Amino acid sequence: MTNLKGKTAVVTGSTSGIGLAYARAFASAGANVVINGFGTPADIEKERSAIETDYKVKAVYSAADMTKPGEIADMVALGERTFGSVDILVNNAGIQFVSPIEEFPIEKWDAIIAINLSSAFHGIRAAVPGMKKRGWGRIINTASAHSLVASPFKSAYVSAKHGIAGLTKTVALELATFKITCNCISPGYVWTPLVENQIPDTMKARGLTREQVINDVLLTRQPTKQFVQPEDVAALALFLCRHEARNITGANYNMDGGWVAE
Ligand code: NAD
Repeated sequence: MTNLKGKTAVVTGSTSGIGLAYARAFASAGANVVINGFGTPADIEKERSAIETDYKVKAVYSAADMTKPGEIADMVALGERTFGSVDILVNNAGIQFVSPIEEFPIEKWDAIIAINLSSAFHGIRAAVPGMKKRGWGRIINTASAHSLVASPFKSAYVSAKHGIAGLTKTVALELATFKITCNCISPGYVWTPLVENQIPDTMKARGLTREQVINDVLLTRQPTKQFVQPEDVAALALFLCRHEARNITGANYNMDGGWVAE
């Protein structure tokens, strides 16, 4: 069993989907958590207090916008101030937009690069000094099967995710002798709002029905013909925090039902 008692995890984009599953998994192992992301105050408070009640740990919420470097640094500072350390940083916040490249809105490109890639740089930059000082750290980036292969109409997302894979390797090498690991997890399609919300645009871009998008665009990529579950991704992140994972660094773990094996 993974024991994270006394440790603090900051998980970006954890008001929903995979991020929420990470936060709950770390809390289940005894870590205090900083959750982050958008949502209604009532929904966020419900998730925050459920983590405290379910796992008898402390959870605080940071409203940091991942497009704003100063707010990202403040989020890390909040974790350090509240709990004394940030030992685990999960860069997970992400958005998607699907469009042919010649119509791809410039502001969507900028937002995806900021949220899906640059925010990880800013978070790591802010968290590493404390991790180095304490001589322990785990950095986990949610990449994607799209960090390894491409799909049409996802130019910004694929670029950001390939970037995250490169950032992961670079940071792993820089921190290799400091007992700080940096890895990324590359899920295939996980059934979360991010996937559900791209269905209408994909229907439009490819001229397909909803069922055709689910079966012929999404699940067709996954030989298992199943969506990955957020809890499965979180279980891998939990493993990466174990002592036994201390020599796993710079890795890109795909969990995609066999997608990139083809
Ligand atoms: P989701 O939409 O359920 O969650 C995204 C989270 O990011 C939410 O908490 C949202 O509020 C937050 N967020 C978005 N913009 C933000 C901003 N500017 N500042 C702060 N928080 C912000 O999506 P998800 O599917 O759980 O995605 C999580 C990560 O997993 C993303 O990086 C995504 O690219 C990646 N991923 C998802 C899938 C999938 O199939 N769902 C597959 C591979 C990778």
